[in-house]
Amino acid sequence: MSLTLVSAKSVEDDRKARFESPLSVRGLTVSYGESPAIFSVDVTVRAGAMTAIVGPNGAGKSTLLKAALDVVKPLAGSVQIYGQPLAQMRDRIAYVPQRASVDWDFPTRVIDVVLMGMYRQLGLLGRVRARHRTLALDCLDRVGMRDFETRQIGQLSGGQQQRVFLARALAQQADIYVLDEPFAGVDAATEKAIIAVLQELRDAGRTVLAVHHDLTTVPDYFDDVILLNTQIVAAGPVADVFTEDNLQAAYGGRLATARVDPESVAG
Ligand code: ADP
Ligand code: MG
Repeated sequence: MSLTLVSAKSVEDDRKARFESPLSVRGLTVSYGESPAIFSVDVTVRAGAMTAIVGPNGAGKSTLLKAALDVVKPLAGSVQIYGQPLAQMRDRIAYVPQRASVDWDFPTRVIDVVLMGMYRQLGLLGRVRARHRTLALDCLDRVGMRDFETRQIGQLSGGQQQRVFLARALAQQADIYVLDEPFAGVDAATEKAIIAVLQELRDAGRTVLAVHHDLTTVPDYFDDVILLNTQIVAAGPVADVFTEDNLQAAYGGRLATARVDPESVAG
């Protein structure tokens, strides 16, 4: 009898957690070939927190984001956004893909890249009105790129491009911001500017989920961390999860090259 009650309660708790979580995935498995890139992943992202996804190269970090956003089709599993199917909730999520995966060979102005993030607000005819332009310029201002509005995106440095992609995400006015390695190949000033914007979003109650490759900055930058190596190794608040044992489990023998500072982890 009591066992039944406990399990009914935990089912109810799970349902409640999924409903309240900005992003929850259950049993997510993705395979591009024979062996899965991610296997049976369960994640419940906490609202109003900054969460890092951390793990070695090829661990399936990008795949997890893409499957969560329906960019790649999972073999199995489900995704819920505030307890609802993704299809109904798309405009609540802004996604900044890994920069290297975006090809900007064709000429596109910075302001137009940001306006592209607003296509749902612009409507079918895509008429850009003064208020749309004002919002786009305001978003560029927040990432320090206001003066570059008429420049071609292809002519910018990697760091400048990343700021523009963040501005595009801001223009979507989403509740959840999902970023794939936002600091990869950017200068130190850009990293500072981006983290400041992400922390502002978090402080305003938004949810941030980012693949992050620099273990040394995880405790400074993030509240929660998901350690991934095809499967979830551990997930939760940084202070609980970011331990030597868990990192060894996630990185195996490769941790020595990952430059982890045990002092910063302990704090
Ligand atoms: P991470 O982002 O953690 O480095 P990925 O999610 O990019 O890892 O990749 C996980 C695994 O899936 C890797 O073995 C990678 O080679 C493979 N993979 C990723 N994308 C594709 C794809 N489009 N086609 C085939 N294999 C892929
Ligand atoms: Mg990746």
